[in-house]
Amino acid sequence: MSTVQTISGPIESAALGRTLSHEHLASGMGAMERVPGLYDEDAAVERTIEALKRAHDAGIRTVIDCTPVDLGRQVSVFERVAGQTPMQIVVATGVYRWVPLSYHGWDADYMAQYFLRELQDGIEGTPIRAGIIKLAWDMEYQLTDGGPRSPRVQMEKCARGAARAAKAAGVPITCHTRAADRVGVPLLDIFEEEGLDLRSVTIGHTNDSEDMDYVLGLAARGATVGLDRFFSAQDEYVAQKAGVALALVQAGYAEQTCLGHDAAAYSVNGGPADGGPRPFNPECWLLVPNVQVPWLLDHGAAEDDIDALLVRSVRATFEAAAAMAG
Ligand SMILES: [Zn+2]
Repeated sequence: MSTVQTISGPIESAALGRTLSHEHLASGMGAMERVPGLYDEDAAVERTIEALKRAHDAGIRTVIDCTPVDLGRQVSVFERVAGQTPMQIVVATGVYRWVPLSYHGWDADYMAQYFLRELQDGIEGTPIRAGIIKLAWDMEYQLTDGGPRSPRVQMEKCARGAARAAKAAGVPITCHTRAADRVGVPLLDIFEEEGLDLRSVTIGHTNDSEDMDYVLGLAARGATVGLDRFFSAQDEYVAQKAGVALALVQAGYAEQTCLGHDAAAYSVNGGPADGGPRPFNPECWLLVPNVQVPWLLDHGAAEDDIDALLVRSVRATFEAAAAMAG
């Protein structure tokens, strides 16, 4: 057992329950709340509470919000939502995709200190502590021009900083990865060099790939595989996404596989708040419990496998991380 930080304070890892491993409450871009007309906090709070309520009604007990500050994290939403939902919410420090120029002159240890402040002291002057570190490795990883300032070198530095902070604070790392480029492999190489227990690392968005050599290879190295993209109930889509989960279950990796949607209750990415009707999808976190789980049970997974996928796998990332910190 270990302690997990939520926006309402610490809980025991045993209390996590069914967990969605990669979601967003409010997201968009850093400082979006300062741009008139771009963001509507009351709408963000209202939509988040409604989506959380529906997910809780569907049996979900914890949501991991993977929104670092540069992806538009809204600590005021966390503060306003905390008292109004029974859902346990873990929030993130970290970096999203393009490493901001402001971090380019920082070394890996300084990055680690920066993450540690949010993990140990609190986010943006509040007592709300981040409980996880988020990294995002996407197509920018392919850009190697610019020597030490190239996107790749900066991303590698941030990964080392994240690893050092994860070890010091005893928290897991969750990674957005571009599965088509198999970037989970070089990420795990760095985490291995830094001495992490790879069980504490989730290589996310891996169900964007049907390359089962790649997917199973991540699990074989001991990492946790995040099958955390799920946007549609359309039959073919469900069979493809859930099929990846079933293959991991059948290969004996249910304990290392976690599920989510990568869906936001409120995002400015669909257009500015004052730009007309915005998509509101209060069912954004229901496809895993209400569509993927029944599909898996229909196709041979056992109830115990579902517990492994939704409860024990995520719990193990927190416990493996805590064990590293001793
Ligand atoms: Zn995401």
